[in-house]
Amino acid sequence: METPPPPHPNPPKRVLVCGGGVIGVCTAYFLSKSGAAASVALVEQSSVACAASGKAGGFLALDWCDGGPLGPLARASFDLHRALAAELDGPRTYGYRTLTTLSLTVKESESGSGQQPKRAPRDAVLPDWVDGPGRAARAIGSTDTTAQVHPQLFTRALLDKAVRDYGLEVVIGKVARVDADGGGRVSAVVLEGGRVMEADAVVLALGPWSGKFGLLSSLFGVYGLKAHSIVLEPREPSAIGPQALFLSFLPSGGGPAMDPEVYPRPTGEVYLCGMSSREEVPDDPTEVSPNPESIKVLKRVARAVSTNLGEGEAHMKAEQACFLPCTEDEVPVIGELPGLEGCYVATGHSCWGILNGPATGAAVAELVLEGRARTVDLTRFSPARFVVSRKR
Ligand SMILES: Cc1cc2nc3c(=O)[nH]c(=O)nc-3n(C[C@H](O)[C@H](O)[C@H](O)COP(=O)(O)OP(=O)(O)OC[C@H]3O[C@@H](n4cnc5c(N)ncnc54)[C@H](O)[C@@H]3O)c2cc1C
Repeated sequence: METPPPPHPNPPKRVLVCGGGVIGVCTAYFLSKSGAAASVALVEQSSVACAASGKAGGFLALDWCDGGPLGPLARASFDLHRALAAELDGPRTYGYRTLTTLSLTVKESESGSGQQPKRAPRDAVLPDWVDGPGRAARAIGSTDTTAQVHPQLFTRALLDKAVRDYGLEVVIGKVARVDADGGGRVSAVVLEGGRVMEADAVVLALGPWSGKFGLLSSLFGVYGLKAHSIVLEPREPSAIGPQALFLSFLPSGGGPAMDPEVYPRPTGEVYLCGMSSREEVPDDPTEVSPNPESIKVLKRVARAVSTNLGEGEAHMKAEQACFLPCTEDEVPVIGELPGLEGCYVATGHSCWGILNGPATGAAVAELVLEGRARTVDLTRFSPARFVVSRKR
């Protein structure tokens, strides 16, 4: 059994978590649940889960990151998702469920005529509701290795629990800067408008806005990859089963294959996403709007996958876009900032932030409160790697 870490010589009393996406909320949840800090507050500029953490797919995979730097984080997080779902009644409150996951190729030119192309035989793994021209279908995840949550409901359920049962405070305000005392230790966060919030530990979980926050952007780059999604409400939701689809979509008229994803949800909705490109992140998250052409393509994908998702068969609930937070080396940045004691960062989770939120939050809470992360080794994610590589 692992020996418990020695008590932190000087545990922080007042911890501020900045950013109310899944990473900030998970961190605030584990910090406040531990009861080790006298007070924990979360500062969000707009509303909790207003950005990618509210508009993501919510797909979770146990072993898809194996062999890379994210492998242990993803495995720990997949298990934590299961534990949290038991603790918070996840199947009922935020749509947690296990899934079968399939990959398939869909050629658009073979769909939409009302007549299914003759294919012999139909791929055995394809469920009945995938009645478009799906080919080369194979299972790439089972109910042991893949699952899903509704990301916005998940993030808000965690926040509500932390506020209600563990005394987390939520403040709406935009963090303008982090102040230090004369000894190079964090002392406060200053909000736009001048409000000063004293703190002896600060966690910056600003998602793609990390790249616009001077303290962080002076150390490393974070950029936003804009991705699109639509949410459909089919007339007959019971016809659609718990199968996530990873497509290779060949548009009619040629052009390169695209790789949209389709996630039916236990709420009866079907979520589709794809169409990403690197774009400037607007300052205000409420100003992120979808590109109409990208939304049109996702509608074509929906039609080609299943008659249940075509116009007239499904109501369009949402057409939206959000930004993946990406780092230049494609590895998240998690750890204490070099040169500013008591100031931590957690960002750059790219397309796996919903999966990796819980283990990131638990590990950062341990690092802040105990001086060492036990849930997962954070060494590979340290922001110090950028200082080292810049010196070379
Ligand atoms: C289309 C799409 C589908 C996805 N699907 C999946 C999936 O299926 N599975 C998966 O694991 N991941 C998925 N992701 C990735 C996942 O959504 C992200 O990795 C994750 O949401 C990032 O969380 P975050 O908390 O770092 O950032 P965000 O969700 O962007 O949150 C950052 C928050 O910080 C706030 N903020 C920023 N600056 C300030 C400031 N100065 N002061 C106060 N607040 C501030 C913002 O308002 C925002 O609320 C998907 C992403 C996209 C775009």
